[in-house]
Amino acid sequence: MAHTTTSSIKLVDSRDLLEMLRQHPLSAPFNLALYSEEQGRGGLLAAIQTICAPLSGELHCTAECCRAWEDGISQAMLTNQPVTQSCAQGFICFIVPLPERSDLPDCLLGGGVFEQSATVNRNLERKNHHEGKPLLLESGNTSQRLSLSEAESMADELSRSLPRLLDQQLHSLSLARTTKRLEAVQSLARDLADCTESEQAIAIVSEALVVLFNLPKVLIVLQQSGLSMTVHSTLGLDPESFQLDQKHLAAHFDNTSGHPEVLSGGELKIFFPGLETQTAHLFPLKENNRYLGAIVVLDINLHSRDQALIELLVNRLATRLESLKTAEGRQLERQFSTRMVAMISELSLVGTRHDLYQKILEMSSELLTATSGSLMLLHETEGTLKIEAVKGMTSSLAKTMSVAYGEGIAGQVAKSGFPMLVNDIERDTRVATKNRPRFKTKSFVSLPLEANDRLIGVLNLADKENGRNFTEADLNLIRTFTGHAVRMIDRAAILEKAGQFEQLAITDPLTGLYNRRFLEDRLQEEFSRGERQQQNFCIILADLDNFKIYNDLCGHLAGDNALRKTAEIIRRSAREMDVVNRYGGEEFCLILPGTSKKESVFVGERIRRAIEAESFPGESHLPLGRLTISIGIATFPADGVTTNELIHAADLALYSAKQSGRNRLVLYEANMEGQTLLSHQD
Ligand code: GH3
Ligand code: MG
Ligand code: MG
Repeated sequence: MAHTTTSSIKLVDSRDLLEMLRQHPLSAPFNLALYSEEQGRGGLLAAIQTICAPLSGELHCTAECCRAWEDGISQAMLTNQPVTQSCAQGFICFIVPLPERSDLPDCLLGGGVFEQSATVNRNLERKNHHEGKPLLLESGNTSQRLSLSEAESMADELSRSLPRLLDQQLHSLSLARTTKRLEAVQSLARDLADCTESEQAIAIVSEALVVLFNLPKVLIVLQQSGLSMTVHSTLGLDPESFQLDQKHLAAHFDNTSGHPEVLSGGELKIFFPGLETQTAHLFPLKENNRYLGAIVVLDINLHSRDQALIELLVNRLATRLESLKTAEGRQLERQFSTRMVAMISELSLVGTRHDLYQKILEMSSELLTATSGSLMLLHETEGTLKIEAVKGMTSSLAKTMSVAYGEGIAGQVAKSGFPMLVNDIERDTRVATKNRPRFKTKSFVSLPLEANDRLIGVLNLADKENGRNFTEADLNLIRTFTGHAVRMIDRAAILEKAGQFEQLAITDPLTGLYNRRFLEDRLQEEFSRGERQQQNFCIILADLDNFKIYNDLCGHLAGDNALRKTAEIIRRSAREMDVVNRYGGEEFCLILPGTSKKESVFVGERIRRAIEAESFPGESHLPLGRLTISIGIATFPADGVTTNELIHAADLALYSAKQSGRNRLVLYEANMEGQTLLSHQD
């Protein structure tokens, strides 16, 4: 739809030409403008405005003058001779046809010098006086009056010398300017390459457009993260006076070559509704086939030399913006991953569950610069989500609130298992609710927390610090973080369980070992882990030999001491990961996670030998001459897949050890079934 840059190469920049003519002694007294018939009436009015407006600040004679100018121009063009005339207000104006060349306008217009013999238009003077405007004679070039014939000969002389001026002076002026701009552009390109921030790079180019190229109106559009395009800055334009139609501009970019274009005011209005302009040069900011935005130069007919230089500068800017963006992205990624690792290790040091939830929420908020949010956990039995941590609202209030599974935003997220990224809570059809007053912005993120494919809660974040919307990038970041954080929640659940049992005395007061209740719980966990991860584990049942006799011989107190000592020896002999329990009176049970039958023999034997080696007061009177221990071992899943089956198997092995003389270790075997059990338990 838009036509590309005019193909005819313009050798003469009309701005250069005007500047040269203004400096010429013959035309110096006049206000000057250039005009081509193809510019039409609008162009002529603009030219007259340039010539006459400085006289009284306002044009009083538009229609009349315009006709006079039009007549003069027709005559000058027809005869190819200068026309000099004086207007109704007593001002001299001239029209000098320019040599017929495709790169030159049709004619030079001059005016604004008062005619010597003219009398001031008294009516106009009175009007101006009334309105407090300066008298015509006091403004403009009135000091330099000329007679019409003087002006005529000046115009003739100017007309005669024009070809030579164009050939020599204009050429050198143009060359000097080109060289100056080229040098400046080269040095700016170097500055751009040194830029470390996008804003800095954009500022360099903006400044060059205004100062170096003297452009009256410029607007810069930039593609922000995500897909949105925004007007980054405007120069010489009221940013409030127009809008940006992102969709149309993006579609236009998709369909064009990426080269600079010249657009009419009407064409430009499609992209910028409300923008009033005659013509525009659109320079796309494009790098690696990606549009980063555009620079639009308004209301000026750029010389092809300047077009090329601006294009060069814009391309350099695009390259720099792209590489900065990539570098900024990488830098950000690095920062985030470093911060995330620090956060996760910090989480592992948190002491209580409550602190953990609060920390996870705080860290999530930090990562997404959210100023409010909540962490909810699913209470499966009640089917509700309960707020466990809040930010940005009273926690006592929040703790009383719970959400039913499947209801409300968090409830829906919990049920669907899909995160929700909402940019406008009032408009998003998924949630369509009047923005609740506690949210400052309308954008929020709500995502499910899952551990081992099981939903455990929902994390909600809202009110981004800068008031902007949350992005897909935010969502990805927070998903990575919560992926790690839920493992901590899972771990905390186990710790918490331990904590809870501690209150219910999970430890045995005599030996300090875990008691039977804890053992049963832990065994359940080992079964589900064993099933999930296809892992072996063993249990060891150990029972002191002839302990009744020891008690009888040495007394109950000595018996207690011997039990304490035994517990300590077993704990020392076991490995860090093994769970040691006091199972009954003088019976101990160990869980050996992830351990094969073979490996468990090493642990068991170490215990047996350690007890045998230890000296207990009064033990020499025992049947074996020392206090010893017998051991039975059973393995999951080979010897049993439930607590009962496994304990039963270990008990049979222990019974076998007792039967075969005590102070020994026996592994469970299937043929032990059917044998009479010793009563090991209290
Ligand atoms: P065996 O080698 O066949 O196991 O013989 P045993 O005497 O050890 O077997 P039994 O189970 O009949 O006896 C266990 C004794 O352990 C009974 C009790 O006197 C003693 N005992 C159990 N709990 C405690 C305790 O907490 N403190 C003390 N001092 N003795 C205990
Ligand atoms: Mg015993
Ligand atoms: Mg016993």
